[in-house]
Amino acid sequence: MKPIRILSIAVILFFINVTLTVAQSPMTLNVDATEAARNIIHSRLRIPVKPGPLTLFYPKWIPGEHSPTGPINDLVGLKLSAGGKSIAWRRDEVEMFAFHCDIPAGVDVLDVTFDDVSQPETTASAKLARIKWNRLLVYTQGINSDAINVKTSLKLPAGWRFASALPIASENKGELQFKQVTLTELVDSPAIIGANFRVFPLSSTGMTHELDIVADTPAALEMKPETLTGYRRLIDEAYALFGARHYRSYKFLVTLSDHGGSEGLEHHESSEDGAGEKALSDELELLDFAELMGHEYAHSWNGKYRRPAGLATPDFEQPMRGDLLWVYEGLTQYLGQVLPARSGLWSPEDFREAMAAVAAEMENQSGREWRPLVDTAVAVQFTYPSPRAWMNYRRRVDYYHEGSLIWLDADVLIRTRSNGKLSLDDFCRKFHGGQGSGPVLKPYTFDDVVNTLNEVTPYDWRSFLNARVNVVAPHAPLGGITNGGWKLVYTDKPNTEVRIADHSRKSIDLSYSLGVLLKEEDGTVMDVNPNGPAFKAGVAPGMKILSINGRTWSTDVLHEAVASSKTSTTPIEFVVENGSFNETYKVNYHGGERYPHLERDNTKPDVLGEVIKSRAR
Ligand SMILES: [Zn+2]
Repeated sequence: MKPIRILSIAVILFFINVTLTVAQSPMTLNVDATEAARNIIHSRLRIPVKPGPLTLFYPKWIPGEHSPTGPINDLVGLKLSAGGKSIAWRRDEVEMFAFHCDIPAGVDVLDVTFDDVSQPETTASAKLARIKWNRLLVYTQGINSDAINVKTSLKLPAGWRFASALPIASENKGELQFKQVTLTELVDSPAIIGANFRVFPLSSTGMTHELDIVADTPAALEMKPETLTGYRRLIDEAYALFGARHYRSYKFLVTLSDHGGSEGLEHHESSEDGAGEKALSDELELLDFAELMGHEYAHSWNGKYRRPAGLATPDFEQPMRGDLLWVYEGLTQYLGQVLPARSGLWSPEDFREAMAAVAAEMENQSGREWRPLVDTAVAVQFTYPSPRAWMNYRRRVDYYHEGSLIWLDADVLIRTRSNGKLSLDDFCRKFHGGQGSGPVLKPYTFDDVVNTLNEVTPYDWRSFLNARVNVVAPHAPLGGITNGGWKLVYTDKPNTEVRIADHSRKSIDLSYSLGVLLKEEDGTVMDVNPNGPAFKAGVAPGMKILSINGRTWSTDVLHEAVASSKTSTTPIEFVVENGSFNETYKVNYHGGERYPHLERDNTKPDVLGEVIKSRAR
């Protein structure tokens, strides 16, 4: 089924002003990925044209990335021709993604060739690659991507296999020919290719749900039976939660590699789920991967089917507006933790540890003293790539993490006010469920969110959300935890979620004791909390800790110094390198090791326990 856009009148009028919707004969795209392992993919396009001035556009605003992240710098070797004769092009002096040319009289098809040279360790490794069609094409500027039809083919490296939600027309000797689709559907249907490939069917209910994995080694494709059971339950729990699906089939496109595997991008009928080689075997990575899978899958409903009007753009040129990302990403973040817990991929304790970690991080984010949550979403164009140094003061993509706390708060409020009869599940069923369908886009506004919440449980949701989203709030929204029967506490026992984060970024997170995040390898300061003891002593990002209390840097020496600070009367002494100078800083801290956890509050019912109860079983 062709994706349909259901738009409000205001949005339709906006679109008419900026795009033309003209029926087009199809363009063809031939992708040669035989050299994917060395990060070069060759692209050949034939685009229907008319004589006269023409502007070609390279996709700039990428759905799901909410930003102008089209990798224009990776487009090289661009050549235009018609009937074998070269045609000159000139880049627009302001819009770097646009290329102007003049089509000679009598020409109705333009040949375009270029190479996509992806940066090492981004989209490919020696044994696998993600084929993102938006990197491999240009199109006629000003035409709605629903109105452009594309016939695509893909040539694979010898012996490599393939998976995609894109429907196949034919396959011959490592070359795939796909059925004609719109440009919208093509960009929404990436492929994974790789030397080591395995498929795990996830349901037997008639509708295809599949886990397609390519990995750097055959061993990385092995999955424990209980993990597979968990992923099968994830499909059932999501259906029980939303009550309908908006896809024809669904494929998790998994890439497992320590060199180019990482990804997390949602699509209507698939998701790109990339992680390290040991994602299915390492205990911590397995927990992290379950959250990635839950998150990207929930996006098929919250993000692809229902999308903020400001993010539902008609092509890849119009700017996106991110002010509702605390719904798009925040609610998905919440469901991406609830669904693994309901599926058994996470234990109840794993869920509480994740909530404790996010609650502590948001509560200790010093940037919340100057910056409202909504600003992290409005500024999405630069919050995603924002540097690690001074992140605590700057804030980061907090619309995910704090968004998750806001939706937990709303869930617990609905459950409490309805005496357990209703929950946020009822909101999701009304907002994201409805009639089952193929891929459809139904944009929404802030008012639509408020009105649907009111249909579930009458309450002043507008004020509830405004207070948490749109104004500077010195404290994180912890109502979901405290009203849910739990307390945020700090003990010397490491938090599971903090361990996962430290494992993946090779760091030591002492945010809740010294107020620093350090590189495990050499003690380089990655970030500081300006309200914490380390910053007050003089420590700043970029400095390197050489010694602690007179002993050479090691993680053991550091942990020991922090732990014994509890009984010590003297400050912790750091010798720190700042450029070519060394300084001694005395950190006056006596709290010992501190990590966040949730502790049961027996004066209130355990609503959090209700949230993660299976709905499907
Ligand atoms: Zn997301």
